[in-house]
Amino acid sequence: MRTGLPAGERRDFIQPFSIEGHGVRGRLVRLSGVVDRIIKQHAYPDSVAKLLAEMMVLAAALAAALKYEGVFTLQTKGDGPIRLMVVDLTSEGAMRGYAQFDAEKVAAIAAENPGDQASLPRLHGKGYLAFTVDQGQHTDRYQGIVEMDGATLSDCVHHYFRQSEQLQAGFKLAVVKGEDGWRAGAIMLQRLPQENVTEMAEEIADDAWRRAFVLMASCTDRELLDLETPATDVLYRLFHEDGVRAQKAQGVEAKCRCSRGRVETVLKAMTPEELTDLQVDGKLTVTCEFCNAQYDFTVADLVPTHG
Ligand SMILES: [Zn+2]
Repeated sequence: MRTGLPAGERRDFIQPFSIEGHGVRGRLVRLSGVVDRIIKQHAYPDSVAKLLAEMMVLAAALAAALKYEGVFTLQTKGDGPIRLMVVDLTSEGAMRGYAQFDAEKVAAIAAENPGDQASLPRLHGKGYLAFTVDQGQHTDRYQGIVEMDGATLSDCVHHYFRQSEQLQAGFKLAVVKGEDGWRAGAIMLQRLPQENVTEMAEEIADDAWRRAFVLMASCTDRELLDLETPATDVLYRLFHEDGVRAQKAQGVEAKCRCSRGRVETVLKAMTPEELTDLQVDGKLTVTCEFCNAQYDFTVADLVPTHG
């Protein structure tokens, strides 16, 4: 098996695979530099960082299950201390993300739950998890949405797939804060619908799916997170008896899509009065929520002068 990526680029990637003959596909995702960089851009408290890292690796696993050209977005909204988390990923592999939260409330929960053990329901409250695929203008936006009523993010996504009749899928996620920063890993399995199969073939496929699920569950956090163990070795260890095949891996990088030009377009759609209200000390500063980049303008930059 080959990973399709040169050795130096294997730290942040999505490794797709298939199990021969039974319509089972999957992917193993490992993110280290990407997760670490996005979290450090914001200096999030550990409990928020851990959930956002889970969102990132989950977004990569889900996005890779869809064929799309554009932007995949995974988002949560809740009434708890963490109000919002957003991660998006382009089909080229550029990822970004941020969280909005009440720092005091998050700190109070962290004080009661040492480490990063605070539960998702405590931090997030009631709300939902949604994903969207935006393929640009004049195309359909595909959206999936599920109420957040699980103990973990992967429980919530499992719940979504149980409700949806189109796709059977399973996940396992792992996140760690090591000495060298944050790392996250995921393995996802999905079962492809098979058409015109005999009852016996169906039963064999059912068995293969159940076995793959059990094997996936046996994957350890260490296997998901250890940068020294190639993903293909992990896949071989888990599924070799069933004939696992790795496809070309895709790299992921931490990269925001904001630019001065994009911010300017948004500001130019506002009235001079609205712009004046946004000014501080004669300057208008817009900070990108995803990457913290700052763009400075003056009202004169933005209001066309009529001669
Ligand atoms: Zn940005």
